[in-house]
Amino acid sequence: MQLRGEKPSHIITPAIHLSKEDIGQTFSQRLTIPYTPQPEQLTAVARERLRSMFLTAEMGITGVNFAIAETGTLVLVENEGNGRMCSTLPDILVTLMGIEKVIPKLDDLPHFLEVLARTSTGQKLTCYTNFINGPRRDADIDGPRELHVVMLDNGRTTMLADPVLREALYCLRCGACLNVCPVYRRIGGHAYGVPYSGPIGSVVGPNLFGRAAALLPFASTLCGACRDICPVKIDIPRLLLHMRWKENFGQGAPQVEFPPDGVRSRNGMRRFARMARWPRLVRSMLRFASFLGRPFARDGYLKWIPGPFRSWTRGRDFPALRGR
Ligand code: SF4
Repeated sequence: MQLRGEKPSHIITPAIHLSKEDIGQTFSQRLTIPYTPQPEQLTAVARERLRSMFLTAEMGITGVNFAIAETGTLVLVENEGNGRMCSTLPDILVTLMGIEKVIPKLDDLPHFLEVLARTSTGQKLTCYTNFINGPRRDADIDGPRELHVVMLDNGRTTMLADPVLREALYCLRCGACLNVCPVYRRIGGHAYGVPYSGPIGSVVGPNLFGRAAALLPFASTLCGACRDICPVKIDIPRLLLHMRWKENFGQGAPQVEFPPDGVRSRNGMRRFARMARWPRLVRSMLRFASFLGRPFARDGYLKWIPGPFRSWTRGRDFPALRGR
């Protein structure tokens, strides 16, 4: 993702929107190697290029999946080995964790590990489960000489104080709700504009990242697939409705907004409702728009739309209008 200048599009599998051919092209262009779409060869290239970086890095930075209050242990689960290399090779390790990652006891951990692996990647256990108990001791053969733990609040205590929203802090970031969400599956993670996408991202996004994500709770069909799949039974549709209520409380009709251009119309929904009463008019407008867009459509999709809708095509293609 860094080679492509992109941000992750999924909380567990950051490059899920790319095919092996896309990755082959990226490697070929950015690393000047012959093109190959073979996963084994691509992995070997990544390994060769990254290993020397890990061996010479002075500082590693990792996240934290669980922090055990009883023992002070930081637990980091992963499948690639980069977390283990970051946490054992450099002399300094900085770990970043949201304050909700703390669980009471070591005995609680096996259950969480099992639930997380099964719902995120369908494994019984991830390939690497790292336990970090502190900086390297004299008898240890590896590990950082300095360990820093950064605990982030960033709106979490405010969520905790809200009797409805606090449920969102149960989230393990397994990604299962993204995988089943009909909206996420259609538009992808980049469209959400904040690091946490999908149904749970639409709940925690406005709380952690502020106004930039304020309208995400409205971009949901409330179908409930996320609630059904969630291993910790977070009632996400209820939280989305709560967020909608909070956003519009005391403001009358919902507003239509096209971020980040700031084109807003509080009466947008009313205008749309008035127009929708005239089906013939809507059909003629659709036919006209379809005619206008035809020269710009490629394989049934528009790559760019002008005016207030251009934010949409910045993150994803738009289906070309069909006239019906
Ligand atoms: S809300 Fe539930 S399903 Fe979604 S990422 Fe969190 S734990 Fe997983």
